[in-house]
Amino acid sequence: MSVLLSVERLNISFPLDGHRLFSGRRRVVHAAQDITFDIAVGETLALVGESGCGKTTVGRAVAGLTKVQKDVVRLHGRDPFHRPRSERHIARRAIQMVFQDPFSSLDPRMNVRQILLEPLDINGIGTAEERTNRVADLMIQVGLPPDALARYPHEFSGGQRQRIAIARALAPDPELIVADEPLSALDVSIQSQTLNLLQTLKRQRGLSYLFISHDLAAVHHLADRVAVMYLGRLVEVADRDTLFASPRHPYTQGLLAAVPRIGQGRRKRTLIAGDLPSPLALPTGCAFHPRCPLAKDICRVERPALSPLSTNPGQTVACHFAEVKENVA
Ligand code: SF4
Repeated sequence: MSVLLSVERLNISFPLDGHRLFSGRRRVVHAAQDITFDIAVGETLALVGESGCGKTTVGRAVAGLTKVQKDVVRLHGRDPFHRPRSERHIARRAIQMVFQDPFSSLDPRMNVRQILLEPLDINGIGTAEERTNRVADLMIQVGLPPDALARYPHEFSGGQRQRIAIARALAPDPELIVADEPLSALDVSIQSQTLNLLQTLKRQRGLSYLFISHDLAAVHHLADRVAVMYLGRLVEVADRDTLFASPRHPYTQGLLAAVPRIGQGRRKRTLIAGDLPSPLALPTGCAFHPRCPLAKDICRVERPALSPLSTNPGQTVACHFAEVKENVA
């Protein structure tokens, strides 16, 4: 499969107002550090990890909502964001975002027709008649009645609003959708319907997803590959089946410990102890060492690189002991 999106050495830091060191310099949160991955055409890459680990920051950078340096994000090999003004909209059309909260992501003053027409207008897509047909078509694709186009967001349920948000993302015919926790604000009964919709749209339209989620059951359902983030860095990347069957990073093992395997109950793995450290005071060496049951002296001083396993180069792990047999879950 050809590469659609590549992200290479993405670093994002936020200076904190009001937080100064003794030297007078402002304190900085390193939200994403050295993030490298790619997504193939038609592939879903899930980005998982605890709240506050930097997943959303990466998603926003990929969608062009956070400034990144030149050539860090590439779409079909070209930087979509640092282009001549006349070309920018073409590339921006290709990456759309679905946000977590369908209640705040839709403008309450616009009816659904206006919401769906807006990206078509901005991108200059189609004639007036083609746009009218397209918005009706989008409603059908996301399972909403076209005669609801005149209604306003507050007249819909949470699940329906998320479908409207998905239709808005589909409107400019993107190649990649960044879906940032698209299920977490929905009732449990609606989550699986929305997940199935995303799966169907992917199949029908050949879409790729960057699927940001802390819901590992949903990730197992939708993802082709999974990237695990901890405190701003990737700690493990593997295809879905390998990651769920044989995670090599103790953090991944801890995340999966709470997920029952079908017919086998909970796994015999150790749950993650303690809380996520403050990103303002990152631990030295391996950032996971204060919570890691396998930590040794080297872990406190030397940060492990994200490296391919000798036995499976498609699985990359940032742990000094990833190759050690006893570490296999
Ligand atoms: Fe644990 Fe050490 Fe591996 Fe970090 S490098 S995950 S602390 S064993």
